[in-house]
Amino acid sequence: MNIKVVLKQSTLQFDKEYIYSVPPTLLSENLLGAKVLVPFGKSDKSEEAFVVSVMNDENSPFYVKPILSIEQPNPVLFDDQLNLVKEMCRKYSCTHGDAIKLMVPTLSFPQEKTNKTAYLNDSFLSEMMLNEGEITHVNQIRVMEYLLEYGESLISDILGACQITSSTLTTLYRKKIINFSERAYDEVNQDYESLQLPLEEKLIANSEQKDSIEKILGNLKGEYREYLLHGITGSGKTEVYFQVINELHQQGFGVILLVPEISLTPQMVSRMNKRFGKDVRVIHSRLNQRERTEQWNDIRSGTANIVVGARCAVFSPVHNLGAIIIDEEQETTYKSQTHPKYNALDIARIRMRHVNGLFIMGSATPNVETYYRCKTGRTILLSLRKRICESQLPTVEIIDLREELVAGNRSIFSRALREKMQEAFIKDEQVLLFINRRGYSGFLLCRDCGYVPKCQHCSVSLTYHMTHKSLICHYCGKIYTLPRKCPICQNHRITGFGAGTQQIEQLSKMEFPNARILRMDQDTTTGKGSHEKILSAFEKGEANLLIGTQMIAKGHDFPNVTLVGILSADLMLGLPDFRASERTFQLITQAAGRAGRSIKPGHVVIQAYNVDDYSILYASRQDYEGFFDQEIAYRQSMGYPPFKSIGLIMVSSDTEDSALIAARRIRTELEGSLKDPMSSSLSSENLEIMDISKAPTHMIRNRYRYRIILKATNEIILASCFVIAQTVAREKKVMVSFDTNPYQMN
Ligand code: ADP
Ligand code: ZN
Repeated sequence: MNIKVVLKQSTLQFDKEYIYSVPPTLLSENLLGAKVLVPFGKSDKSEEAFVVSVMNDENSPFYVKPILSIEQPNPVLFDDQLNLVKEMCRKYSCTHGDAIKLMVPTLSFPQEKTNKTAYLNDSFLSEMMLNEGEITHVNQIRVMEYLLEYGESLISDILGACQITSSTLTTLYRKKIINFSERAYDEVNQDYESLQLPLEEKLIANSEQKDSIEKILGNLKGEYREYLLHGITGSGKTEVYFQVINELHQQGFGVILLVPEISLTPQMVSRMNKRFGKDVRVIHSRLNQRERTEQWNDIRSGTANIVVGARCAVFSPVHNLGAIIIDEEQETTYKSQTHPKYNALDIARIRMRHVNGLFIMGSATPNVETYYRCKTGRTILLSLRKRICESQLPTVEIIDLREELVAGNRSIFSRALREKMQEAFIKDEQVLLFINRRGYSGFLLCRDCGYVPKCQHCSVSLTYHMTHKSLICHYCGKIYTLPRKCPICQNHRITGFGAGTQQIEQLSKMEFPNARILRMDQDTTTGKGSHEKILSAFEKGEANLLIGTQMIAKGHDFPNVTLVGILSADLMLGLPDFRASERTFQLITQAAGRAGRSIKPGHVVIQAYNVDDYSILYASRQDYEGFFDQEIAYRQSMGYPPFKSIGLIMVSSDTEDSALIAARRIRTELEGSLKDPMSSSLSSENLEIMDISKAPTHMIRNRYRYRIILKATNEIILASCFVIAQTVAREKKVMVSFDTNPYQMN
C-alpha cells in the first residue's frame, strides 16, 4: 500500500506531498493523519512526516521508498484538520508543517505521566534540626516545615507554596535532608477527577435568548451555518452559548469556545467548569508544555469534548466537532502575529464549513467586516437588545479638552470628571479610569528643541518608566539611562509627555488623597494570575479607583462602578491604520459598558481633542448601526476590507541597502506578473501594488524594514504575491514576512 505524506520541517520549495510505501509489517487501519518517519533525499535522512492520504492502487508502476516507522499510530490529525492544513497552505502561503505545528503540541506524547516530587529523608531528624536551631536559612526552614506538614509533595507545589527557587531544594538535597522522586501522574494531579464542583443548572432563557437559541439549534440539519450574536455586555450572550453547547453536547457533538485572553476571563472558565464539569478542557498560552499536552491528549482521545481557550484552541482535535463559538469576535488577539498570521475567525469558518457545523460569533461591537457579512446575508444576525437585569444604559458626557485648556485647566482631569469622581468617592461608589498607554508618561520630550529619545535599534520612541528611573524600548526591551539634559540643545527642560497608567496613578493620589487606588497594566500583571488578583480585589471593594488600559474593560462585573472616565479617547485615531476609527469606537463602547451594571445609574465621561469625530459621537450614543453606516462607506470608497483585501509584505535585513534592493526586486517581479496574464492569475484588475515605503518602525533589533502594501480583490491573489516575495527573499538572503488584512500596521 502507498501513502502520501508531508514533511514536518520543510521550506516552501520542498513542501510537497511525497509518496511512500508501507511495508506489510507496518500496515494498520489508522494511517490517515498518523505521524511517521520517512527516508528523505539522496542521503535518505530520516524525517518526521504526516500521512495526508492513503492510496488504494495496489501496484504502483514505480518503485517507492518504504516508510521507516510509525511514530504515533492513532491519527494525530483528524480528517477535518487535514483539510484545514491544505486550506491554510493556500490562504497563508505557509508550509504544511507550519500549519500542522499549530495543531499538535511540541512535546507530543509523554511516555509516562510522571511528576517530580520531594520528600524528607528522615522526618524525625528534620524536626529535631528545626527545634535545635540547626537550620538558620529561612527558605530552608519553610521547605522543611512544609514537608513535615504535607509529606511528599510536587516540586512545583513546594516552590509555589514556600515562595522559593529550586536552588533551596538543591541545597537541602546536598545536606541530605531531602530527596527527590517521581510519582505517577494520576496520584498527584487529579485536577479534573477531583473537580467535583456542584454542577450548575441552566437559567431560564428570556424571550430574546430563546429566539436566538432556537434559530441556532433549528439549523442542525447538517448544513454549514454562521451566526453573529450582537448584544451589549450583560445581555446574556454567554447564557446563549451555554445552552447551545449543552444541547450539542447531549447530542454527542464537541464544541470549541474561544475567548480573547483566558487570563482576563477567569469568570468564563469557572462558569464553564460549573456547567460542564469534567467534559471541559482549558487551553491557553500560559500552560506549560506538559499541561498543554495533557489537555490535548484528553481532547484527542475523546475523554473531554468541550474546549474553552484562547486563539490557539481553535485548532483543537475535538471529536465530532459540532460548533465553534468565538466570543468578542472583534478582539485583535484572534489574529496571530507570527507566521502563519492566521485569523481564528477564518480558521473556524474553514473547519466548520468542512464538517457542516455551526460557527457562532458574539460581540457588542462586531468587526465591520463581520457585520457586513450579516448585511449581505452570509451570516445570520441575532440580536440581544436589553441587558438581563434591566439596568439602565449609562449617561454619557463628552468633554472637549481644548476648552479645558482655554479655561486654564492643564490637569489631565477635566473639571467635570474631577467633580464626578469626588461625588462617587463620597457616596462610596467605585470609579474606572481608562487610558491608552502604559508607563509613567508616554515618552520624553525636550520642551525647548522638541527632541524625543528613540531606541537605537528600533527607531521608536522610548517609554519613560518612573519605577525603573529609565527609558525602555517596548519593541526590543533595551533599557537606557535617563538623560539629565537634552543631548541636542543641552537644555534641562526634558520631561515626560503624555500620560501613562503610573502617571495617572500619581496624579490621582495628589488630586484625591483619600482614594484607594489600584492600577492594572502590563507592568503590574506579569505574574500568573495577577490580573485575577487585581480584578477581584477591586470587585471586593478593596479599592475605589481602578486605573488601567483596555484590559480592565473585560471580564469581571463591577456592580458598584458608577463612573467611567476615558482620559484621551482619541489617542488611537492618530494611528496609521485603516481600523483606527473602528478601534476607537470599540474602546469607548466597551469602557462605557462597564458603568452602571447594577441598579445604580452609571455615568461616562469621555475626554478628547477630536470631539467631532464620528467614532466618538456614535460611541457616546452606543449607536453601532450609525457608526457602521459611516465606517462602511469609508471602507468602500477607499477599497479597504471587507471590499478588498490588504496585503502587507515586510522585507527586513541587517543592512539598509540589502533590504531596499530586495524590496525593489519583489515589487518589480510583482509588476512583471501583472503584465504577463499567461503565467499568473495576477492582473491590474485584481491587484494594486503600492510604493515601497520605510516601515513605520523602520528598525527592530538592528534590522532595517521596508514594506510593500497590496490591495487585492481576494486573499488568494495575495497568497500568490507572497509566494513570489518568498522566492525573491530566498535568492536575496533577506527576511520577508507577510500578513493578510493585518490588525497592526507597524
Ligand atoms: P454577556 O455574555 O452578554 O455579557 P451573560 O450571559 O454573562 O451576558 O449574562 C449577564 C448576567 O445575566 C450573568 O450574571 C448571567 O448569569 C445573567 N443571566 C443571563 N441570562 C439570564 C437569564 N435568562 N435569566 C437570569 N439571569 C441571566
Ligand atoms: Zn528597541
